[in-house]
Amino acid sequence: MTSRRVGAVVVGGGIVGANCAVQLTRAGVENVVILERDAPASKASGRAAGNLTIYRHERFGADASRLGRELYEEYEQKYDDLTLHRTKSYSIAYSDEGADYLRSEHESTTIETELLNADELAEREPEFATDDVTVALGFEDAVYTDPKQLTLAAHAVARDEGATLVQEEARDFEVEGNEISVQTTDGRYESPIVVVAAGAWTKRLLQRAGTDVALRPRTSQIAILEPPSDRDIPMWSAPDLSVYGRSTPEGRVLFGGGTTTPVTDLESFRTRARVPFLLQVGELAPRILPVLEDATLHDDWAGRVSATPDRYPYIGETDIEGLYVCSGFNGEGVSNSPFAARLLTDLIVGTDPLVDPSEFDPTRFEGDEAFEITDAVQWWADR
Ligand SMILES: Cc1cc2nc3c(=O)[nH]c(=O)nc-3n(C[C@H](O)[C@H](O)[C@H](O)COP(=O)(O)OP(=O)(O)OC[C@H]3O[C@@H](n4cnc5c(N)ncnc54)[C@H](O)[C@@H]3O)c2cc1C
Repeated sequence: MTSRRVGAVVVGGGIVGANCAVQLTRAGVENVVILERDAPASKASGRAAGNLTIYRHERFGADASRLGRELYEEYEQKYDDLTLHRTKSYSIAYSDEGADYLRSEHESTTIETELLNADELAEREPEFATDDVTVALGFEDAVYTDPKQLTLAAHAVARDEGATLVQEEARDFEVEGNEISVQTTDGRYESPIVVVAAGAWTKRLLQRAGTDVALRPRTSQIAILEPPSDRDIPMWSAPDLSVYGRSTPEGRVLFGGGTTTPVTDLESFRTRARVPFLLQVGELAPRILPVLEDATLHDDWAGRVSATPDRYPYIGETDIEGLYVCSGFNGEGVSNSPFAARLLTDLIVGTDPLVDPSEFDPTRFEGDEAFEITDAVQWWADR
């Protein structure tokens, strides 16, 4: 069995792990190894809708969103297979609580947004049914992309800057002085820096290392609908209904939704959408976009994302020295991983952190406590 000393080990080859590798190499950490047990982008990062919410909101601050936009535009320049699709976007509220949520988003962002009433939305976008709409928030420059190509682009940039991706599974961790030894299917890596960015598998891996974070895997699902004729529907989201959608480049309509139901068995997880989600699509799709009344189901899938009690990700060092975590992004890890990877790197190499790291501290909860998974509007109302 081989043993290698390396500058940093990143466990997980999704978008989070790839972006962590990019930021670590850029900060001068040499010999960064990414361990991925399957193919890169084979889990949540390849199954996402690819809506880049950093073009629409600044939940973690204007600097965090800007950093993400700049990084992804750089990837687009460098990687031929990556296209950032630009479109208009609307966040639509169907309740008073949802309207308050959108108004607060409008007031707290430096991104140009426009509050619309139901009649104004109907005039601009006649495809939407607006009878039940309380408020809509319009954005001129929303962006979506193919999340698999985005993740592969991040890996290509990481590789060009010196990181190595290996197909090995991290099995166990041992702390030896100020080094952590990562046991894999093929060998062993020793490093003072180990980052666990393993998406829904993160909690399980950290437990193997002897620590814990409050993280619960949950499902997010997508249905691709075939309308009777090609449609050009802007990006939209309905936060108080926990659903979103947009046209696809092929003229179909993507309809996505998160659930607050935890995934109990990560390994036997089936990657097709569940019946309750498809029933929800059947009910809500024509209610939001009447043109979908006669749509057929073209494709559907499900993926595993990880939720935290306060809807903030874990970015930073665990209670084991040298063992870091970057996970818990809920349904927005494609969008928020650039800033998270940068913040984590700032903490590792000791540069001024991009944003206040305390809100993301992995030790802010006990780790083993039970918690309910909340959706965005419920979280906002309860906070
Ligand atoms: C249907 C759906 C729609 C979504 N839509 C959006 C969206 O529009 N915008 C957005 O920003 N986000 C979206 N998300 C969320 C986003 O996909 C996730 O937040 C993000 O992909 C998380 O990235 P990750 O790298 O942490 O996880 P993953 O992509 O799951 O990567 C983790 C990797 O770790 C690997 N791994 C696990 N255990 C080990 C081990 N022991 N050793 C080595 N490797 C291991 C896995 O094989 C996997 O490749 C969506 C998610 C889903 C499922």
